[in-house]
Amino acid sequence: MDNKKSDAIIVGAGPAGLSAGIYACRGGLRVAVVEGGSAGGQAATASNVENYPGVRSSDGFSLCYAMLEQCRAAGAEFIFDRAVAFDVEGDTKCVALASGEKISAKKLILTVGAAPRKLSLDGEDRLTGKGISYCAACDGALYRGKTVAVIGGGNTAVEDALYLEKLASKTYLIHRRDALRADAIYAERLKKSEVVPIWDNVVAGLVGDEKLTQIQLKNVKTGSLTSLLVDCVFVAIGQVPNTAGLGKLSLDEGGYIVTDEEMRTNIDGVYAAGDVRSKPLRQIVTACADGAIAANSCIKDIL
Ligand code: NAP
Repeated sequence: MDNKKSDAIIVGAGPAGLSAGIYACRGGLRVAVVEGGSAGGQAATASNVENYPGVRSSDGFSLCYAMLEQCRAAGAEFIFDRAVAFDVEGDTKCVALASGEKISAKKLILTVGAAPRKLSLDGEDRLTGKGISYCAACDGALYRGKTVAVIGGGNTAVEDALYLEKLASKTYLIHRRDALRADAIYAERLKKSEVVPIWDNVVAGLVGDEKLTQIQLKNVKTGSLTSLLVDCVFVAIGQVPNTAGLGKLSLDEGGYIVTDEEMRTNIDGVYAAGDVRSKPLRQIVTACADGAIAANSCIKDIL
C-alpha cells in the first residue's frame, strides 16, 4: 500500500478503531488501519455481549468480525503489523511498524485500547499459559471439569466466572473487597449461580513448577493466609492503557489519553478514542461512539 496517500492512520482495530474507520471512509477519507494483534481487540475475547444495542446477545468475536467486515467494505486498508513508535508533532504524522516500514498521514487516530492488568506476583510470567490466563473466553475450554478461580470484582471478572461455571467443576471468584464493582445485574446472576465467592482476599502467591497447582490467599481484613488448590487462575483485575511511547500526549493520572469532547488530544491532528481515552464508561458502545466522533473531527479538520 502507498500509505503516503492516506489521509488518516487509525492505530488499533478494536470497536473504536473499526467505527472510526467506517465513519472516516464514508466521510471520504483514505484510511489505513494498523493492528498488531487480531482485529476486535479485547472486545473480541468477551464470551457474551448483551448490552450492545440492537444485538440481544453475541460473542465478542462475532460482533467484532462484523465490524471488521463493515470497515473493510467501507474502503479501509488494513495493515496487520505492530505500531512501535509514533512521531506525532509535525503536520505529517508518522508511525513506525515492527516490520521496519514507516507510514504517514495527515491525521492519526489512536484507538490502541488497554491490556489486562497483571497480578505482579513471582512466577506469573512463567506460569502464564500453564494455569494463569487473562482470557476466559480463549482458555476456559481447556479447564472443562477442573477447578478454576477468577480474580477481580468488576464486570469482566463476574462475566468470566459465570462463563467458566458452565465448563469447570468448581469456580471461585476471589475479590479483594466484600462488595462487587460489577453492575447489579451481574451481582444478581452471581448470587443465583454455583460460583463460590471468596471475599476480602487477594492472591499472595502462585505455587507450581511445570504448571500452577495452588494459590496462596491473604485475607485483607485479618491477614490470615490460606491455600487453594486450582487448575487455573483467570486474572480479571482491570486494564492498563496501551500508551507506551505516547508520552507527548496529555495523559491522566491512570495513564489514559485526555481528549476533549470531539476526541481531539492536546496535539493537533491526533485524536484518541475507545478504552485508551480518559472517560467514565468503557463499553463497546462507548468505544464505537468515540470512534465515530474522532472520525468526524478528523474529517472536519481535513476539509
Ligand atoms: P474494572 O471495572 O476496573 O474492575 C477491576 C476489578 O479488579 C475491581 O473489582 C478491582 O477491585 C479489582 N482489582 C484491581 N486491581 C486489583 C489488584 N491488584 N488485586 C486484586 N483485585 C484488583 O475492570 P474490568 O472488569 O476489566 O472492566 C473494565 C471496563 O470494561 C469497565 O468499565 C467495565 O464496566 C467494562 N466492561 C463492561 C462489560 C459489560 O458491560 N458487559 C463487560 C466487561 C467489562 P476494586 O473493586 O476493589 O477496585
